[in-house]
Amino acid sequence: MSNHAFMPDSYSILIKNANYLPVRKNGKRACVVKDASILIENGVIREISKSPFRQKSTKGEKIDAKDSLVLPGLVNAHTHLPETLERGVCDDATLDDWLWNHIWVMESRMGKKEAYAGAMLGCVEMIKCGTTSFIDQFYYAEELFDAVNKSGLRALLCPSVFDNCVESKTIERAFERAKEVISEKQGKSRRINWGIGPHAPYTVEKDMLLRIAEFADERNLPVHIHLQESLWEMEKAKKEFGMSPIKYLEKIGFFSDKNHQNKRKILGAHCVFVDNEDMEIMRKNELSVLHNPRCNLKLANGIAPVSDMLEKGINVAIGTDGCASNNNLFILEDLLIATILQKYLKSDPRVMPIEEAIELATINGARAIGLENEIGCIEEGKKADVIIVDMKGAHANPKHNILSNLIYASSSHDVNTTIVDGKILMHERKLRELDEQKVIDMARKASEVLLGKKDVR
Ligand SMILES: [Zn+2]
Repeated sequence: MSNHAFMPDSYSILIKNANYLPVRKNGKRACVVKDASILIENGVIREISKSPFRQKSTKGEKIDAKDSLVLPGLVNAHTHLPETLERGVCDDATLDDWLWNHIWVMESRMGKKEAYAGAMLGCVEMIKCGTTSFIDQFYYAEELFDAVNKSGLRALLCPSVFDNCVESKTIERAFERAKEVISEKQGKSRRINWGIGPHAPYTVEKDMLLRIAEFADERNLPVHIHLQESLWEMEKAKKEFGMSPIKYLEKIGFFSDKNHQNKRKILGAHCVFVDNEDMEIMRKNELSVLHNPRCNLKLANGIAPVSDMLEKGINVAIGTDGCASNNNLFILEDLLIATILQKYLKSDPRVMPIEEAIELATINGARAIGLENEIGCIEEGKKADVIIVDMKGAHANPKHNILSNLIYASSSHDVNTTIVDGKILMHERKLRELDEQKVIDMARKASEVLLGKKDVR
């Protein structure tokens, strides 16, 4: 933090009267800083100052953050974006029934147009709840790219590879399509990075898992896979592999490249049923866990031992999972559940304090996405992914502990401003780049196609 005043130029955003949570300062956990000014210029947090601001230029945007909390943009580490169209079509069912008899049946009617509409609806929802980056696994990667590009959000897109990819019908074709889209789109947007998403060890066979991993090596991509989510999956693995999916992946050589020289970057969604041996494999191989507490509860799968994982030095980020199961993309609500669940699991209210909880949705998410040096904290020189949460409401007062008010008393509807890459996507709850009603109308029409009310396109 510098002590001299600064002058914004025409491309700047000045956030004044900011109480902000850096999350990290010089690599260490940092607490809330009061009454600062934050200058954003050309997509970067240029300067943070405690001194009075002397402004000469009238250009640039000024935001008064009085009575608010400024945070790094939140990271939703596990989504299936077009599932927004399936919100509420099948609740209160078991995971295998929900997947095989409902979700995959509906998705079989999804075309490019519907995937785009569902992705746009998800982008609007994320901007409105303060999510600035997300990690997705879905097919129709080209349409997802177009939606994210238009929305202004940041993403790691991991095209799904498995038999149920309706875009491609067979797993072989799904892999080819994923390779095509990645080859074509990699490097085309500075906000969109690529990974690849073999669905799970129970849907993708060994040879294909390894081929996908080798492609990831060639392109330096992270691999995003569902792991150890349900008891059903664990029993299936026991019968077929004689061990847990994580032990099986280690046995087949999934965690490091062919020559055992380099670790692959693996993102494991769920990891609910993990024992100490699994966790040791996860730690050793630097796997990032994408924890989805609300989805795991709703599908009655269980509680991932996240506090144990963190204690062992495993990176844990937080996600909502798709809206067909959760049923929204509100990451702050998942954070509240995550912290309460760990206290319950350990019978100890001291477990996962608020400072640790917020890291799941900020710096840990940034690490999972591969951008820990660029986003996830508010520091000079970092990319300007910043949100402002309104703390004026009755529920956010008095302010004995502003971070406590955020985690334990606020909701996603309190997010007032969302800035990504130095661009204001929402201010005072109004979207700047997208027409919210138009997107909702487009998504409603698309969801009718999924219900079989119109011809598949
Ligand atoms: Zn998932």
